Amino acid sequence: MDVNGKGVPAYLRSLDAGYETHFQAEVMALPPGGVLLSRTLFYPTGGGQPCDQGELRTPSGDRLRVMEVEHRSGAIVHRLSPAHLGKLARGMPVEGRIDWPRRYGHMRSHTAQHLLSAMVFRRHGIPTERARLGGSGGSFDLARALPSEESLRETFDAANREFFTRSVPVSLAFVTPEEFAREPGRSSAARLPHGLAELRLVVIEGVDRTPCGGTHVRDTSEVGPVEGEPSLSLPGGGQRLRFRLGPLGSGPSVPTPPG
Ligand SMILES: [Zn+2]
Repeated sequence: MDVNGKGVPAYLRSLDAGYETHFQAEVMALPPGGVLLSRTLFYPTGGGQPCDQGELRTPSGDRLRVMEVEHRSGAIVHRLSPAHLGKLARGMPVEGRIDWPRRYGHMRSHTAQHLLSAMVFRRHGIPTERARLGGSGGSFDLARALPSEESLRETFDAANREFFTRSVPVSLAFVTPEEFAREPGRSSAARLPHGLAELRLVVIEGVDRTPCGGTHVRDTSEVGPVEGEPSLSLPGGGQRLRFRLGPLGSGPSVPTPPG
């Protein structure tokens, strides 16, 4: 994803912007099945993270459901039902509203996964190859299996003790691929996208710097304690670790955005 381009969603530039759920925009185009806006805060499906859902409110008071959001030829397309699309026209001002519980679940799951992957890499040198995130948990695939059930339990215990129940800052950094290649202890070199001038790193202070375009919490305590679920063996010797989020974390900035 090009994070240099104009019209890039604000959440890519700042983690704070990931906590914004309302925005004003104008209808730019109505391609088949969807709508393009002059700006958007909706996250499109990608990088293992599901899209946001929510609604567009029109000047005449219609509330139009955004069911799906996707990248299509470099644009972010909001998919609506045909009946709802029929209420939009080019140039119309709309107010976008993102479903907060769904978005926040994805943010918490995504930060949890980065941290768990980093813990596995630090302790066992095993990189994560891909991840799937949901609103109440997720899973990620390790290139090789952990040595034992005990090491799996210890990883979750340490993550809960040192991070998910403590306040460790999460932030963004922007570096060139060359700068990133020189960083020690990278766990994700094989997954770097090609042809980018700049990488967006999600930084968990003191433990992880991973290229990622997803939305994240600002503080690890917002994740709250996570629970490991039975892992799966993958063909080729890998292992899929699965986790569930617990009750809402206790972080300093667990937010309640306006109505
Ligand atoms: Zn990520």
